[in-house]
Amino acid sequence: MKKVGFFRSIQLKFIIIYILLILIAIQVIGSYFARELEIELQENFEESINDRVVLLSYNLEQAFNRERTEDGNEPTLQQEVQDIVTDVDTDDITSLQVINNQSRVLGTNDYLNQDIIGKKTTEDMIQRVLRFGSTLETTMLNPETENRVFVKAVPINGDSDTVVGAIYLEASLESVYNQLQNVNDIFLNGSFLAISVSALLGILVARTITKPIMEMKQQAQTMAKGDFSQRVNVHGTDEIGQLAITFNDLNDQLQHSYATIEEERRKLSSVLSNMSDGVIATDQNGAVTLMNDAAAKLLGQSPDEARGRFLLDVLQLEDKIVDICELQNSGSMIIDFSEDDDYFLIRANFSTISDEDDDITGFITVISDVTEQEKVEQERREFVSNVSHELRTPLTTMHSYIEALTDGAWKDKELAPRFLGVAQNETERMIRMVKDLLQLSKMDTKEYQLHKEKVEFISYFHEVIDRFEMNIEEDISLKRDLPKGNYYVWMDKDKMTQVLDNIISNAIKYSPDGGTIRFKVEKQKYHLMVSVQDEGLGIDYDKLDKIFERFYRADKARSRKLGGTGLGLAISKELVEAHHGKIWANSKEGKGTTILFTLPLMKQKRRGTK
Ligand code: ADP
Repeated sequence: MKKVGFFRSIQLKFIIIYILLILIAIQVIGSYFARELEIELQENFEESINDRVVLLSYNLEQAFNRERTEDGNEPTLQQEVQDIVTDVDTDDITSLQVINNQSRVLGTNDYLNQDIIGKKTTEDMIQRVLRFGSTLETTMLNPETENRVFVKAVPINGDSDTVVGAIYLEASLESVYNQLQNVNDIFLNGSFLAISVSALLGILVARTITKPIMEMKQQAQTMAKGDFSQRVNVHGTDEIGQLAITFNDLNDQLQHSYATIEEERRKLSSVLSNMSDGVIATDQNGAVTLMNDAAAKLLGQSPDEARGRFLLDVLQLEDKIVDICELQNSGSMIIDFSEDDDYFLIRANFSTISDEDDDITGFITVISDVTEQEKVEQERREFVSNVSHELRTPLTTMHSYIEALTDGAWKDKELAPRFLGVAQNETERMIRMVKDLLQLSKMDTKEYQLHKEKVEFISYFHEVIDRFEMNIEEDISLKRDLPKGNYYVWMDKDKMTQVLDNIISNAIKYSPDGGTIRFKVEKQKYHLMVSVQDEGLGIDYDKLDKIFERFYRADKARSRKLGGTGLGLAISKELVEAHHGKIWANSKEGKGTTILFTLPLMKQKRRGTK
């Protein structure tokens, strides 16, 4: 966060407010005080002047009203007046004149202006006093000295209450104003001192407020970085102290919430990374924000690569879906990621994340590999279709033969037995098929049990081949290449007989007249490898693996004609594998087929128990 500059700081605001307050207070107090002082000083000044004027007025009245003889021994009025004026304490009184009722100046205290004595004065104020007999006073500015002066004119009354003269005086108010100026100067200095002290105080007070605020600011910045270990100092119990306490409480609560969120986040992250299903989260625009490892593995791209890309691109749905919101409606879909022969299907389940206003804020997509599941489902569908097909063929054949018999063929001595023979063959084939299916079904549900026992395989194999040799009708010779000695195998004799019967009867079925079937047993390190080789038509290379699948027939017409169900080798495979062996086929087209399988030999220890 940017540092707050001094000119924007609370500290400066505080100082300014402080100074302004002090200034206003000083201004109000100062102006009131100055005004009152001015009035008081002026009143005192005028009072002192008036006191002197009263005394002067009394002395002058005495002088004016005294009877004078003509002998000339007595001083004249003018001399007497001049003496009285000279005696007056003329401090502050700049000009003092005594005028008679003819407006002539009888005396003045101005030594430099003595020539005005005896002259008439034209002073308006004196004229008015002489005429009306009332005292006049005013304060005015002396135009020459530009000093403020107090001017007063007082009548001198005669015995019969007539105005016999007047006193005119001018007193400089400068001393009063100088005094005021001095007081103002003291006040100004005091103000400067007060402002300086208040500025200093302002800084200190502002500091006491801004310091905890700064501490809280720094703490908030530390909290924003996820560090809740520090606390702010609580200075006192005032509002800021309370704020600091609340701030510390907030810190504790946030720390708790942060820890809870962090724990939840870790849980979620561990759930997401340990999930076998892939999870992709996007924002409301469909841009990927999160992808777990399982999703990354399924889609073959790293979470970093996918982050920010659009979900539709990531899931390769750009051609199928235009708007991400359509996913919301589709709920779930299978996406084909197959490449060439690499079959790969992914099921994607879509759901939306909404806020409290039900506005979509993102999408969650859960993806899983359903290739195997779909394969099994596909196989199940094929199996049902195959079973229906395989059962319908003999049933249709039987139906048409029985219909023909019902329609009268039963009377035909030649046809009837043939037709019945066909119906019987088809019924037998169906019974075989149902038996095989039941056996396979039991194997699928692991409902069957093998009754394994210790069997010496070579002599057992000889017995099986002997049985075929005795019953064989075709012109086929059987050759054995079996080792001498005893090889023990832990097996279910009946089931192994079923395996060998299947393989050998196939070899017989598909062998040409005069062909040879070779039986071979080879001892390998831990296994016996059994092979049955014929000289028949053989099987195409690309069909070699498929002959072990249910209902698969390399040559359908021939197999059916020979009464095959297409299930024999599938059952053989299951049984060999149940004996921990492997079965496969080799073939050269036109040169015959070899069916091979292995069986684990019993361990030496067991062999020794014979
Ligand atoms: P089927 O009852 O049709 O013989 P199998 O499961 O025993 O059913 O065999 C599956 C298919 O494998 C047969 O239909 C046949 O096409 C082929 N097959 C099996 N053994 C041989 C063989 N020895 N020579 C040629 N084709 C064979």
